[in-house]
This record gives sequence, C-alpha cells and structure tokens, in this order.
Amino acid sequence: MDRFTRKFEAAPVAFNFDDVLLLPGLSEKRPRDISLSTRFSSSITISAPICSSPMDTVTEAEMAIAMAECGGIGVVHRNCTPEEEVAMLRKVKEARPKSETATLGRDKKLAVAAAVSPFDLERAAALSEYADALMTDVAHFHTKATIEATKKLIKATDRDVIIGSMGTKEGVLHCVRELERVAGLRCGIGGGSICITTDVTKAGSPTLFAVSQAADALEELGLDIPIIADGGIRGPGDISLAFAFGASSAMLGYGLAGTDESPGERVSIDGKEYKGYRGMGSRAARERRAIVDRYADTGGKKLDEGVDAYIPYKGAVPAVMEHLSSGIRASIGYAGAVSVAEMRDKARVARILARTQKAHLTYKE
Ligand code: IMP
Repeated sequence: MDRFTRKFEAAPVAFNFDDVLLLPGLSEKRPRDISLSTRFSSSITISAPICSSPMDTVTEAEMAIAMAECGGIGVVHRNCTPEEEVAMLRKVKEARPKSETATLGRDKKLAVAAAVSPFDLERAAALSEYADALMTDVAHFHTKATIEATKKLIKATDRDVIIGSMGTKEGVLHCVRELERVAGLRCGIGGGSICITTDVTKAGSPTLFAVSQAADALEELGLDIPIIADGGIRGPGDISLAFAFGASSAMLGYGLAGTDESPGERVSIDGKEYKGYRGMGSRAARERRAIVDRYADTGGKKLDEGVDAYIPYKGAVPAVMEHLSSGIRASIGYAGAVSVAEMRDKARVARILARTQKAHLTYKE
C-alpha cells in the first residue's frame, strides 16, 4: 500500500460542533428541573457547567467573582506578575458570597482557579495559598519538558491541578499515567475563536474530538477525571454536545469576553459598543511578556498564534450565564437526559452531511 493510503486509512475523523446534532430523546423532566450541577475538577463542584478562560481580556478578579456568584468558576490569567495574579485571587477571596448557588471553596469563600506555567514553581506556591485549583496554561501540554515540570508542580501544591491543553487519547493516556495526581483535563487545541494556531501550523485537535479522545483514554484507565471542553464554543448547544462526548464543563473565552466584568474599556465604533478580545498568543498579549512560555520556543522569532480583535459588547455576566444555562437545560431536555452527567451515556447524536438552508426571512424589529 502506498504511503498516502496508509496514512489516510489510519486517520481518525476529527469532528467538531458543526458536524453533529443531538437527536431528540424521551424526556422525563421539564427542562427547568434539569440539574446543571457538575464537577469542574476532582474536588470542585459547580452548579453552572461553565468556566471563564484564563485570558487577559476575559478573567481577572471581577470576572472570577461574577462567575463564582453565578455557580460557575473563573480561571484568572497569568499574563502579569505573580504579585498581580495573587492580588486577583485575594480580591476574589475577599468578596462575600451573595447567592445560594455561588461556587465555594473549602474555605467557604468564593471558589477561584488560577492559571500557572508548570515551569514557575515559585508562582505556583504563592497562588496555592488562595486558589482552589491550579491550571497548567500551556498550548501543548503533551511534551516531555512540560510533563516533567508538572510532576514537580503537583508535589509542590495540595490544590487540584488541572492539566492541558490536551488533544489526543494517546496524550491523555501518557500524561495521566506519568503524573501522580490529575484533577482535571482541559481539552481542545486550535479551536479558539481568536486562535490561528491551526492556520499557521496545520496542527490542532478540534474541541469535540479532543473531549471524546480524553473520555476514551479515561475509560481505558478506569478513571473519573473531569474534562473541560475548551475552544470555539459559541452557545449552549455546543456545550451540550461537549457533554454528550464526555465533557463535564465548558471553558469560554469569546462567550464571556465583551461583558461588563471582562477587563478593558468599552469603545464605541459607528454607534455600536465593543470591547477588546485577544488571543494569548497574539503579539499584543505577548508584549506583556509573562505569557511567552505558553507557546513553543522555536528558537527563532516568536510565532503569532492568536489575533487581537473588537467584539460586540454583551452586557453583564449574570444575564449571559442565565441565557447559557437556559439553553443548556433546553438542549439536555431535547436529548432526553436529566443532568450533565447523564448526557454522556444517554445523548444520541446524528452526523450531518449537509445543512438545510432555511427560507430567508426579514425580521420585524
Ligand atoms: P474561544 O472561547 O473560542 O474564544 O476560545 C478560547 C480558548 O482559546 C482559550 O481558552 C484557549 O484555550 C485558546 N486560546 C487563547 N488564546 C489563544 C491564542 O492566542 N492562540 C490559540 N489559542 C488560544
């Protein structure tokens, strides 16, 4: 057999959100009674299955407080000095939990997670005093150097350590076997809205495929580690699809950027309101220096792996979260499940071969 055919025949189908739909299934509960409670990491339960991405235009203290208040959780970014990152965590811990559904840590204060470089043990130690979980924030976790560094990181903290980003079953098998204690997996490479990694390098693992690969690996290992679907999530339906393939929660960048609680000022362009949103591998984000080790050191000039953009202003986080939660409940109901966890076994999906174009309508405003 020729080389092309051999490679091609061994190639898995790397599907994503637009390639499948949830099939309607027998629904036994009203959507409003569906529980969205799930695990973010081994020891952190959230009542809304969403976390905010560690990006400097998404999660600082204000976002993390709003996310925990809404029953989700924020992961503060690391594109700053260790002191600045610690200050964000302290601010979250100083906030008083107001709602009954707020996500709390062991300390009964609002829960918060923090992005770390696995190569910066000193920062990790400082963050551990306040963060309920640490998340290794690297674009490609499955590298020898990162695994070795994370072994030390895990020894140096008593907090949940979530690893990522992961993209393949082999990667998850290898990393989870090598590491003593893994409290979560952040899955999806190259799928982010502001990400150009795949355009530049032709490498990536679509989020839904990455989640499914991780779930297969964990099943083989007989382990129950929460999976976070990350990258390219546009709405509640995408989140429910991620649950169907094994995710426990979803990480949002675009979906939570452009809100009142995201960092940065609102700008008005042609009478419309916008806020900035940028990839952590964009040139602008890398100019802040602290994030440079998130991406590969190619020995030469650093590669741009993200873009810097304006996105429409979205209002406040509680309203955005409410909209997402309602949509997820409806979606789980259609799929015939009653909880996030049940989606994994119960939800059936259909492959889409072509999208039906709907008749064109002009909406009444
Ligand atoms: P979004 O929700 O589609 O906007 O995707 C957000 C995700 O994109 C983040 O959680 C990261 O995993 C990923 N990401 C953030 N910045 C970059 C970048 O500059 N290049 C590639 N991926 C990025």
